[in-house]
Amino acid sequence: MAPEVKYTKLFIDNEWVDAKSGKTFDTYNPHDGSVIAKVAEGDKADIDLAVAAAKRAFHRNSEWRQLDASQRGEILRKFSDLVERDWQYLAELESYNNGMVISLAKALKVAVNIIRYIASCADKIKGDTIAADGEVFSYTLRQPVGVSGIILPWNFPIYIFVNKVCTALAAGCTVVVKPAEQTPLTALALVALMAEAGVPKGVVNVVNGFGPGAGTALTHHVDVAKISFTGSVEVGKLIQQAAGTNNLKRITLELGGKSPLVVMNDADLNIAVPIAANAVFAHQGQVCVAASRLFVQSGIYDKFVEAAVKHAKGIKVGNPADPTSQNGPQIDGEIMSKVLGYIEKGKKEGAKLVCGGNRIGTTGYYVEPTVFADVTDEMTIAKEEIFGPVQSILKFDTLEEVIDRANDTSYGLSAGIITTNVNNALQFAKHVESGIVRVNTYMGGGPQSPFGGFKDSGIGRENGMDALLAYTEVKNVVISL
Ligand code: NAD
Repeated sequence: MAPEVKYTKLFIDNEWVDAKSGKTFDTYNPHDGSVIAKVAEGDKADIDLAVAAAKRAFHRNSEWRQLDASQRGEILRKFSDLVERDWQYLAELESYNNGMVISLAKALKVAVNIIRYIASCADKIKGDTIAADGEVFSYTLRQPVGVSGIILPWNFPIYIFVNKVCTALAAGCTVVVKPAEQTPLTALALVALMAEAGVPKGVVNVVNGFGPGAGTALTHHVDVAKISFTGSVEVGKLIQQAAGTNNLKRITLELGGKSPLVVMNDADLNIAVPIAANAVFAHQGQVCVAASRLFVQSGIYDKFVEAAVKHAKGIKVGNPADPTSQNGPQIDGEIMSKVLGYIEKGKKEGAKLVCGGNRIGTTGYYVEPTVFADVTDEMTIAKEEIFGPVQSILKFDTLEEVIDRANDTSYGLSAGIITTNVNNALQFAKHVESGIVRVNTYMGGGPQSPFGGFKDSGIGRENGMDALLAYTEVKNVVISL
């Protein structure tokens, strides 16, 4: 049975309100393209109200600013308990609106631990005493940066919401959230739980809507001090420009990737093949760190390709609500067509299609897990982010060579190597131009580990103290003795 949709309005100053324009937009179930609900479509007027509420809530005398850091942590802990209480419902709603298979949606209950970790960091923010010149006492304070605009993508709506919003709150900021237009529902369910947990009025506001409307209004707003964005490089560049237009906003950008995973001759295929498959097929490839360039060393290349095809053929694609489905649909028809377009380009440019390559059925947005062998560096499928279930396998001879080829991209988000030789791993980890490097695994690291990209994959980091401090300003105080 479909989960109940409880909230469809905007959440501003702790009130559920319609958009000022009265407009709504449809949100869909990617399994069959059916309309789930009509959601309030926020625009500039609504962003103005939400930012004004967040600004009032950030005033030095507000209820929120009067709380100790440990009290902020306590509220976040209460929120984590409510998320845990409602997880079954939240996972079902995520799956319904996003097409994420229910087994993955449920497994992302790690979000509860992430909130608890962030809650525990709230009172660990501290300044320094400085060995300053002269007869002075010089110290620093770390203070919240102010009203923060948070712009979300559609691929992991709950996970990215809790990570960004809780980090901003732990630092003492107030926020206006603009969820992705494809997945507006879980952000509303989460903000309702935040209110229930005791987050004061105006501290968290959610304005659904579109990028050119609500999104640009938020990134241009003069009372917004920081933007934290996860999404495409294209929009990331627009946000960087907007952030410098009316004031000088701080920005954190988590963008796309074309991540290399390297499998050396010494790797055990029984380990390497499933790691490589999960690294690109999980969530039907709609993962920013997806290992979409798989470099396999020549000595094991043929055997690897054969095993990779067998593995891909075994992936069960089906209704995301079915607990046995391993892959679901792409988020919408546009993304599905884009993925199928890349598959056509791969074939035209001479890559060898060894598995899949087609749409599944005629309703919903399903694409077969697809494997290309004999991909070369200049092919489009080796250069551009596909964001779909397409594994591109490239052959290499030496570690030296593959490091250069792995780095020959404007992206730098994630990279991996599978090897039993520690020197290979250390050399690769040292020289690959990537914010995240994983050895003999491709996921993991937890909320304590910094997450973000080199080069066009972003600016700044999510997770851990790095992310928290990015929601603060350093203030230096000097006292004459
Ligand atoms: P997108 O960039 O199209 O949209 C992301 C968000 O930006 C949406 O909320 C959208 O409404 C908003 N937006 C669009 N135009 C805007 C504008 N001009 N001003 C302000 N906001 C605007 O990305 P998407 O399609 O939702 O997500 C897919 C992309 O996100 C992929 O490239 C993927 O790699 C990346 N991603 C990165 C990470 C990471 O952590 N690095 C995580 C998930 C997704």
